[in-house]
Amino acid sequence: MRRPSAALLALLLAGVSPAIALEGPAPAAPAAPVAASGKPRVVIVATGGTIAGAGADAANSATYQAAKVPVDKLIAAVPAIAGVAEVRGEQAFQIASESFTNAQLVDLAKKVSALAKRDDVDGIVITHGTDTVEETAYFLDLVVKTDKPIVMVASMRPSTAISADGALNLLDAVTVAAAKDSRAKGVLLTMNDEIQAGRDTTKRVNIKPSAFFSQWGPLGMVVEGKTYWFRAPVKRHGTASEFDIDTIDALPEVAIVYGSGNMHPEAYTSAVAGGAKAIIHAGTGNGSVAGYLVDTLKDIRAKGVQIIRSSRVGDGFVLRNAEQPDDTYDWVVAHDLNPQKAKILAAVALTKPRDAKDLQRIFWEY
Ligand code: GLU
Repeated sequence: MRRPSAALLALLLAGVSPAIALEGPAPAAPAAPVAASGKPRVVIVATGGTIAGAGADAANSATYQAAKVPVDKLIAAVPAIAGVAEVRGEQAFQIASESFTNAQLVDLAKKVSALAKRDDVDGIVITHGTDTVEETAYFLDLVVKTDKPIVMVASMRPSTAISADGALNLLDAVTVAAAKDSRAKGVLLTMNDEIQAGRDTTKRVNIKPSAFFSQWGPLGMVVEGKTYWFRAPVKRHGTASEFDIDTIDALPEVAIVYGSGNMHPEAYTSAVAGGAKAIIHAGTGNGSVAGYLVDTLKDIRAKGVQIIRSSRVGDGFVLRNAEQPDDTYDWVVAHDLNPQKAKILAAVALTKPRDAKDLQRIFWEY
């Protein structure tokens, strides 16, 4: 066990022990400034979703309206938060997350980047709908240059339902955002007692509180107000990223075409006609492309649009030059990123003109 530092001892004496884990390597980043109360300062940025949802009947866990409850009420509903951190809320949006646009993603990231630069902010929590929280988490992971904890949180049941999961998820998210050992771990998602890497996690169940998984496992858990870590992210993110939201004002269009039997070329050509700068091919198996589609995809690449092979399977990773001769066709593989994550990385990468070789480098590194 690592011996607690003097700063850590001061925090422990000030009563913030639940947020601090004594085990594991020392945090790489310097200690954040601490408020007069001794508690870390956490801003909760609210965007909507089920965690801010309300229904008419407690028995209804799936029939309700998302994005109804304002952030100050969310915070007031969980008094235990005050024992963990000094929190304040900011209402960024009040929407269901399937309605997020690129413009809103950019807006949110600029807001989070500005908050992360402030000396009086030690951590940031973002409440969000579960539908696209995995995309927003990965986007922020790529473009916000900070080591301060950024923790996404959501819920599967509205606050009005029996066994609502939002209150504990929010308390856990604040606990993670307030913990020094959460620094430099990329954007995180805290739900269902687990701390997931924003890059890796995906919604795999659409009706249960245990909705999020990563094929590589959670980074850690938060249990009874304490963080426990089991692995660290290895891909570039945060301060190690070459992308910076402070220099990005808009994202290019990227389309996903879902693979199946009996495909039609129009699915691809209409995406290009609609302005897509890259197409994520959510292929069967190893990102396979039907023989009768290969010429269409080669023609699209010849017009300058990037072809990125991902897979509809969910787990595993797409091998380069296995199912298709990517070197010959000048295509890219999405590695282990699912189609919606690949869409985010492609959009960020293509904010600058880039050849397929450099785009492939990015898909290996992030
Ligand atoms: N579809 C809504 C959203 O993603 C509600 C789902 C949820 O948050 O679980 O915001």
